[in-house]
Amino acid sequence: MTFTSLASSSHGNAYIVDDGQTRLLLECGLSFRRLKQLAGFGASGMDAVLVSHEHRDHSRCAAELVRAGLPVYMSEGTADALELDGAEIITDRGQFLVGTIDVVPFRTFHDAAEPLGFLLRSGVDGEVLVMATDTVSLAYRFPGVSVLALEANYDSAILSRCERMPDKVRRRITNSHMEIDTLCDYLRTLDLSNCREIWLLHLSDATSHELHFIHKVQRVVPPWCKVAACPKGG
Ligand SMILES: [Zn+2]
Repeated sequence: MTFTSLASSSHGNAYIVDDGQTRLLLECGLSFRRLKQLAGFGASGMDAVLVSHEHRDHSRCAAELVRAGLPVYMSEGTADALELDGAEIITDRGQFLVGTIDVVPFRTFHDAAEPLGFLLRSGVDGEVLVMATDTVSLAYRFPGVSVLALEANYDSAILSRCERMPDKVRRRITNSHMEIDTLCDYLRTLDLSNCREIWLLHLSDATSHELHFIHKVQRVVPPWCKVAACPKGG
């Protein structure tokens, strides 16, 4: 199962998971036109779209994707917040199948109506991928994971040096996004014996440092895990 980032920032998020038989778009926080350019829609197609929550940088072209006839999966809270008819409604731990990929949504912790992360298991290669972004923390351990794609939004030390940042903005970051040390502490608790890739998502423009984040994560995971930050792109 492969994970590809098309865009990963507060300006837009879109990722592709592909196991050779089923191709999923995770998040659609770009203009439809830009998404089609980046993903090569039409030529290779998508089987379904999964949307974690209603914020525009994750859901921007959801309505167009529904109109284009793609199954677009999201929680009821997300669909209501987007005032979107025609979405496929999913629930926390309500397992479902898209082609050869088994999907288990799980709750995340963010200032959104009903945000979700996703555990994906491929029936083709048996690999497990977990994707969660825009969440202060994670409530579940994921055994046997092959690929992790998790938010690494900010560094509290960098944030504390942003003196001109309004308190409201600062509170919003700390109450709704993942701090790099929170991620590292979480990774320490996982069995990563099967994990080959860790992708860091949604690095903040002002309060992250890509290389520093990669090094921090590398120090707490086994040496066989490749660690990379998704390009902001989009
Ligand atoms: Zn968000």
